[in-house]
Amino acid sequence: MHPGTPFVIEVNPHIPQRLSRLTELADNLWYSWDQPTRTLFARLHSGLWDKVKHNPKAFLKRVDEERLNAAADDHIFRSNYNRVLSAFDTYMREPQCLDMSLDLKPDDLIAYFCAEFGFHESFPVYSGGLGILAGDHCKSASDLRLPFVAVGLLYRQGYFSQHIDSDGHQIATYTDSDFEDLPVNPALTEDGRELHVTIELPGRNVEVKVWEAQVGHVRLCLLDTDLPGNWSEDRNITHRLYGGDLHTRIQQEIVLGIGGARALEQLGLKPTVYHINEGHAAFLVVERIRRKMKAAGLSFHAALEIVAASTVFTTHTPVPAGHDHFAEDMIWDYFRETCNDLGLQREEFLKLGGAGYGQEFNMTKLALSGSRFHNGVSRIHGQVSSRILSDMWPQVLPEESPMDYITNGVHVSTFLAQEWQDLFDSQLGYEWRRLRMDADFDNAFWEKVADIPDHLFWAAHQTLKAKMLSSVRDVVTNQHMRIFGSVARLERMLKFTNPLDPNVLTIGFARRFATYKRATLLFENMDWLRSTLKNDDRPVLFIFAGKAHPDDKPAQELIRRIYDISRWPEFEGNLLMVEGYNLSLARRLVAGCDVWLNNPIYPMEASGTSGIKAAMNGVINLSVTDGWWDEGYDGSNGWAIKPAPEYFDDTRRDQEDSRDLYEVLQDQVIPMYYRRNELGFSNEWVRMAKLSIITLLPSFSSTRMVMEYVNKFYGPASRQWRRYSAGIFSVAQNLADWKAKVRQAWSGVRIRRLSDPQRRILFGESAPLKISADLNGLAPEDVKVEVLLGRASKNGRDKKLQTMCMKPLERIGQEWVFHLELNPEMCGKLLYRVRIYPYNQYLTHPFETGLMVWL
Ligand SMILES: *Cc1c(COP(=O)(O)O)cnc(C)c1O
Repeated sequence: MHPGTPFVIEVNPHIPQRLSRLTELADNLWYSWDQPTRTLFARLHSGLWDKVKHNPKAFLKRVDEERLNAAADDHIFRSNYNRVLSAFDTYMREPQCLDMSLDLKPDDLIAYFCAEFGFHESFPVYSGGLGILAGDHCKSASDLRLPFVAVGLLYRQGYFSQHIDSDGHQIATYTDSDFEDLPVNPALTEDGRELHVTIELPGRNVEVKVWEAQVGHVRLCLLDTDLPGNWSEDRNITHRLYGGDLHTRIQQEIVLGIGGARALEQLGLKPTVYHINEGHAAFLVVERIRRKMKAAGLSFHAALEIVAASTVFTTHTPVPAGHDHFAEDMIWDYFRETCNDLGLQREEFLKLGGAGYGQEFNMTKLALSGSRFHNGVSRIHGQVSSRILSDMWPQVLPEESPMDYITNGVHVSTFLAQEWQDLFDSQLGYEWRRLRMDADFDNAFWEKVADIPDHLFWAAHQTLKAKMLSSVRDVVTNQHMRIFGSVARLERMLKFTNPLDPNVLTIGFARRFATYKRATLLFENMDWLRSTLKNDDRPVLFIFAGKAHPDDKPAQELIRRIYDISRWPEFEGNLLMVEGYNLSLARRLVAGCDVWLNNPIYPMEASGTSGIKAAMNGVINLSVTDGWWDEGYDGSNGWAIKPAPEYFDDTRRDQEDSRDLYEVLQDQVIPMYYRRNELGFSNEWVRMAKLSIITLLPSFSSTRMVMEYVNKFYGPASRQWRRYSAGIFSVAQNLADWKAKVRQAWSGVRIRRLSDPQRRILFGESAPLKISADLNGLAPEDVKVEVLLGRASKNGRDKKLQTMCMKPLERIGQEWVFHLELNPEMCGKLLYRVRIYPYNQYLTHPFETGLMVWL
């Protein structure tokens, strides 16, 4: 050690006048999806660029002034700089889109809340899939010029960096961010002071500083409690992403939901639609209700109606245990005062989060209580969510449940490699770039990819593969040298990663390590693996990467196992466990492998997005048909592993699924890759890679996803907001009163059959049907009585064919008679069922009350 204390002084260069707008480029996350902008910085000093982890702002503070001056005098650099700026200016000057087809009005504003955002490796406020999805959502909202603002937390420490030691153990290192280096600036009040908001925690107030980041057109507000005026434990609330104990967790969520709402208000923003992306931000609902009650003098229930009708909630977790929950007493400690403000009893408040009867207060339940638009993130996940949350609407058929789905998408400009972008520019014309701007872009356009000459297509792929292999070599070499491994061994390990000869079939598996993703499924049958990998004519390289949560020991064990097997002499060179998975490595891998492998336990993969990134880069998916791949796979654009039935035990499912995986690899993937033509590549392979792009890129882009949110949710939510606000919120108040009345009466509502069932009719004839309903004081207008006509199907669930509404006929004593002439539009043996449920034209979803009675 050197004696003495080191003191730090950072010397910042002057940015030359001619390059002054570099600072502007560094301050807008546009650079996170515009490769030419990043290249501009890298060209100034590529070593420093890597050292500052591709962070433009940090780069500009450390780069030598001489280099900047030289660049300012270099006309080639300047012309590059001007080109980048001109693209940036064109993008930024495009006016806000108020295309009426979007169903949004000029004063609409969508506020999007999430606990993490992943834009770029230089901005470490994300851990994985959820954050990157949120980042992509903002990027597409910017591309589409939506009126959109996002809210999150600014963590001092983001997620950890990962090293793997010589025994295969994951070493997690957390680093403090210097906010001066991040693309954020303090949000300012109108009179130019830093904006702070206050939140109340038990026995104290906590000050929260608001920061802003610019994501193209979109403003992102980030909250930070690390202020000198706060107690030291409160300064730590936003210390670490998903860090700390349950108290930290609930405090972070209070800062996000409640502090976030206050920050927007202080900034003078008046969102009309709120989107809660995963339950962490659900306290937002409580704050909005409180404010509505105060500002408009509404009752709690009226305020709830208006808040919920303008709120969208997206759930991302397919297991109930994955939903955040807190003990009742803890909630009470934090929300006692709030209950006073809301005029609620303890039990009433707890019920919002589904607490009681042995259940804890659940953030997913709170978000559901406080929103009328809910979705899962793929078709299967929508169904699974509707099943696990079915106690919210027990009598409603799963396929009609208010839990809808919007399948995740990926931001094309961020994840489509520059080589493809250039090739598409030259081969398809710039037209393809409309994909990101125009809501109604035609998917059939992509069929042109089929016409790209195979050798050009393959050359682009091979270039990306070589770049990826080169990055992987660098990481593995570092990893190996750090543990003092031998050079001879390193060479054996890297024998199939030669960037000059990228002709070994390379299969990638990189994602968060969680046990349900079954990273080690490939190792179910080592004999099979050995015999397949021993074939010297057709070598295969598997690349694994990913982080396990520091508390998830079983997942860390998976990393250790893969690392261990990769060092068995027989597998040396065929398997690599690469450390330090982050966005930068992810972009390389999803563009540079040949095949992208995913084999989760069905139906645990809510959507999965890395496979989409791969697909759009012509990297072919081999995956369990779960999440997005169940919708994306069409028989020709990749390979599918059909999951073993859910009722098999885990061991059996692993066996069945791995056998499927082996068969596909050995019978299809490996032979196809090595059936090479005289130019050295496989035509069939290129055909499939093209189909992957053609069929999957447009349908799984985040433009498509965000447009679906606009059409299905944001537009309708803004409409509901307007309807409910009409007449000083009288609609909301009336609806709340109506719901109270209906809930009161419902336990006494009954229906019974009057007419004798007619068992046989001729086509074209009708069978009269009469039922009698005891409405327990409700009026016939308060309900709908429906006949559902269907056909029996094997799974015991009727296939629905037709829904018909019965009309009230007369009142007899306490009961109302409803009738219908049943005239089916088809022949055969049909089934019909009758149901009654509350109806009001102002409801957002017909079954939102969850009340229904079947005959
Ligand atoms: C895309 C991405 C993920 C999510 O991948 P999944 O397939 O959804 O597991 C996680 N981490 C990084 C860095 C990514 O880029």
